[in-house]
Amino acid sequence: MSAVSLTSIVKKFGGFTAVHRMNMEIPDGSFVTLLGPSGCGKTTTLRMIAGLIDPTEGDITIKGQRINDVPIHKRNLGLVFQNYALFPHKTIAENVAFGLKYRNLSRADAEQKVKDALELVQLPDVGGRYPKQLSGGQQQRIALARAIVIEPDVLLLDEPLSALDANLREDMRVELKRIQHRIGITTVFVTHDQSEALAMSDQVVVMSNGRVEQVGTPEEVYNTPASEFVSRFLGISNILAATCRNIDGSGLELELPAFGRITVPKERAPNVGSTGPAQLVIRAEKLLLTEKSAPADERVAMDGVVEAVDYQGQAARYFVRIGDHHLQVLNMIDQYPFQEGAEVSVRFRPRDCAALPGATA
Ligand code: ATP
Repeated sequence: MSAVSLTSIVKKFGGFTAVHRMNMEIPDGSFVTLLGPSGCGKTTTLRMIAGLIDPTEGDITIKGQRINDVPIHKRNLGLVFQNYALFPHKTIAENVAFGLKYRNLSRADAEQKVKDALELVQLPDVGGRYPKQLSGGQQQRIALARAIVIEPDVLLLDEPLSALDANLREDMRVELKRIQHRIGITTVFVTHDQSEALAMSDQVVVMSNGRVEQVGTPEEVYNTPASEFVSRFLGISNILAATCRNIDGSGLELELPAFGRITVPKERAPNVGSTGPAQLVIRAEKLLLTEKSAPADERVAMDGVVEAVDYQGQAARYFVRIGDHHLQVLNMIDQYPFQEGAEVSVRFRPRDCAALPGATA
């Protein structure tokens, strides 16, 4: 059974529709991320599940029970937001114990649960301190402990890591995933950060303009994007107009003006018809720049010119022109450190490409 299900959910704010007829099934015990740019409706969706706002239309069920009319405190949900919202004048233990107040537990049981929750977030010794005596990352762990201590049916996390600095953020995402795994709690996570979504999720729900663009595992949404939006939102994509010439057991044959014919694996082009306009998608890291004179290999190769280099430490993002096409290439710096103006060979394997229907504007 799905832990959470949304059926034909619509949310309007006056005349503006923030969520358009959304359907979503969140399997029990899974970590599902709502991913999309600012304003796409992910927080609104989470807030409807939480009971902070009401859907205009549609049904929300948790563990099979319709909860549209169930008030927030009776939904048995754990919530963590970007700003930790700990009570400053309560100790850490009191903060964590807060949600247990109305659960009729004995004092000893409540203390044990608080102790277990603090151990789970690896801060067993801070119960007597106050929030301001903890770092931002530690406070966020306490907010998580406070959400988990009530043993909620579902954990709802709205950009919980975005106030943390980059290194701590990466540590915390590992930590959060470890905790989620350990207790097996169904989790709905909201972020606009694609790397966070890919690193943490069992399923990613990619949203744009209040609509679901694609639902899939991190590998599915990254490797086989269902739309140009998904392809551009996740990673750096080169999208080239093509014409589909044929489809057979070996794949989908695309023709591109400057590149000739390229056969993309069928499973990487699920929505493309056998003829007509299509688009070839090549991820920036799937292109390799070599010296122009490098010996031929099994890759498709074209001559290009490096127009700009964006140095990134270990890697560089190259802006390369091939005829009228401008491509982006992401390569490790130690492969071939090219400078602006370098004449290069741009290479890729067709099996690393995906295809989408339609043509680029
Ligand atoms: P962000 O990452 O910036 O929070 P989001 O994807 O979570 O973005 P939402 O907060 O869900 O986006 O907002 C979706 C749309 O609904 C936005 O255009 C927003 O301006 C609008 N919206 C949200 N809440 C309200 C409200 N209470 N009244 C009117 N419009 C709202």
